[in-house]
Amino acid sequence: MSTTYSWIQEEAWAANQRIGAEKLAALTWGNASAVERTSGVFAIKPSGVPYENLNVEDMVICSIEDASVVYGNKKASSDAITHAALYRAFPEIGGIVHTHSPKATAWAQTGLDLPCLGTTHADHFAGPVPCTRPLTPEEINSAYVLNTAVVIIETFEKRSLNPAAIPAVLVGQHGPFTWSESATGAVDNAIALEACTAMAFDMFNLTGNLVPIPDALLRYHYERKHGPKATYGQ
Ligand SMILES: [Zn+2]
Repeated sequence: MSTTYSWIQEEAWAANQRIGAEKLAALTWGNASAVERTSGVFAIKPSGVPYENLNVEDMVICSIEDASVVYGNKKASSDAITHAALYRAFPEIGGIVHTHSPKATAWAQTGLDLPCLGTTHADHFAGPVPCTRPLTPEEINSAYVLNTAVVIIETFEKRSLNPAAIPAVLVGQHGPFTWSESATGAVDNAIALEACTAMAFDMFNLTGNLVPIPDALLRYHYERKHGPKATYGQ
């Protein structure tokens, strides 16, 4: 049955399929959502369903306001509350992906930012990908899933980061969240983040050092792909 929510269900479904296909998450350790701002809702993966068993109509429609289920006959991903809070805080984004992709998750577990070590990173992210502080015991025990978004938003506010220029974060001791103007773009950024993190591990293994690229090179690469005069395409 076609509904007004069909297009976000289709976009969210396709993004979730890619999480599985690109091996960004083992088991069901990841979820994607797509937002429809006019209606104030987003479509997200249902809880616990393997990627290969997902149907488009399984995507659960939730309210941006409080993550409550607006439409659908399945339970929404337990991370829907985090997605809703990020949609409220970052009004320019259209899709969100959360995974436990191995390299980015290992890096998040260190509590360190992912520095910009090369042009591959600079093509996607306009600087280091920040790592949030750990949640306090009180935050864990009160509203854990919401507070996961709180520490992400706090990190971007405190460091004056633009979520459109740095469309990714590492939640300390947990894993990555990425976003974009669409769910498709958010998966692209999840793939890019995992690849850049793998390169950072390799660089450290080879040299024992993590030397960021010069700011001029970072800016050149980021601006040619994302700036007002973007010319780059592959
Ligand atoms: Zn998680």
